[in-house]
Parts: sequence; structure tokens; C-alpha cells
Amino acid sequence: MQQSSVSRTPTQLTFMASCALPTPWATFQLHAFVEDSTGKEHLALTLGDVGNGEPVLARLHSECLTGDALFSQRCDCGAQLEGALRRIAAEDRGILLYLRQEGRGIGLINKIRAYKLQEQGADTVEANHQLGFADDLRDYEICAPIFQHFGIKSLRLMTNNPRKIDALKSLDIRIERVEHIASSTRHNARYLATKAKKLGHLLPPLAPAHKPDENN
Ligand SMILES: [Zn+2]
Repeated sequence: MQQSSVSRTPTQLTFMASCALPTPWATFQLHAFVEDSTGKEHLALTLGDVGNGEPVLARLHSECLTGDALFSQRCDCGAQLEGALRRIAAEDRGILLYLRQEGRGIGLINKIRAYKLQEQGADTVEANHQLGFADDLRDYEICAPIFQHFGIKSLRLMTNNPRKIDALKSLDIRIERVEHIASSTRHNARYLATKAKKLGHLLPPLAPAHKPDENN
């Protein structure tokens, strides 16, 4: 079931294991954590000395199985993930958190149900509402113990999402925003426009050449 925001206790996380993770862009260190209350497994990829006190280039990526692993063009998650890893590799230093909160927190099956509703005309926010969920159920408190684990207090955060910035500021982490734009395609143009209009994402106006595909 989804967590309510009433009477929270600080999120507890246990560090489990780490190893080297070679990628096309750099060899990262991959660190695995388990959320004590739910058993969910979260990951952090780090490169370089992230605990030396200098602001760390960072990305908080919420799991999107269809976008990250199955090349879905319904959203921009796969491109955002790859773009973030490339930028961290280019700087030789940074951190990417891979958070297991699929479908803005509604889970994989409900995300597929929401996609079906979108094929029938709803946008991404309306589809969540029709299924009885809020716009965005993602919880960024999970990040606090991970950043603590690495001794990170200050981020250069790659994001277009003001909710993410507010959530981290409330966790007492210093944030400087770094723009992180993935290009739009004919399949995700409407999705990106809805994120900008209804969820406050800071995105540039879409190129008129990309006529939104109303079937997606
Ligand atoms: Zn996605």
C-alpha cells in the first residue's frame, strides 16, 4: 500500500554490498541498499571521490522498467538515465540514485493500466487520478540515508522537477539545479507537455515540428 505522509519516522536504510559496474561511459561503483520497512532494494552508482565536501553532480532516477530497460518512447526516462550517466562520466565524479518507485510510485501494473487509459484519451496526470492515485507518490526521504552514507551534503542536481528540489531542501541538503533536458519524440511530446503544464516541470517549449501524438 502507499505510504501516507502523516507521522513519519525517518527512513531507515541498510547498506548491503557494492561492486564495480563497467558501463559504456565509465566504470562506476554500484552500491546496494535495502529499505528496512518495505524490503525495497535501492541502488547508488558513484564515480570518483563523492565525499570530499565539494558539491556533487547528482541525479535521482526513479525506476521506469519500460523506459530504462525496454526502450519505451512513451516517456523520457531512458534518455534521462543515459544522459545523467554520460554527464557524470564526463566530469569523472558524481552520483546517480536508482530508486525503486516505479510509475511515479504507483507500481508497474498500475502504470500499464494508466498507459491504457492514456490510449483512450487521458493525459498522464488524469490517468493517475482515474486509478485513484495522486499526481506523484514518489518519496525522496529515502535519499537522506544514502547521501549520509557517502558523506554528501551538497548537490548539483540534474533535474527539471521543482518538487524534487523542495523535497531535498527539506532534508537539509544544499542544492544547485543543473538543467537536464532529454529530447522530445513524436511519442512523448504530449507526456512532456503534461509534465510541464500540470506537474510544474521546467522544460523548454516543445519544437513545433513535433506534433503531439494523441494516441500516446
Ligand atoms: Zn518512464
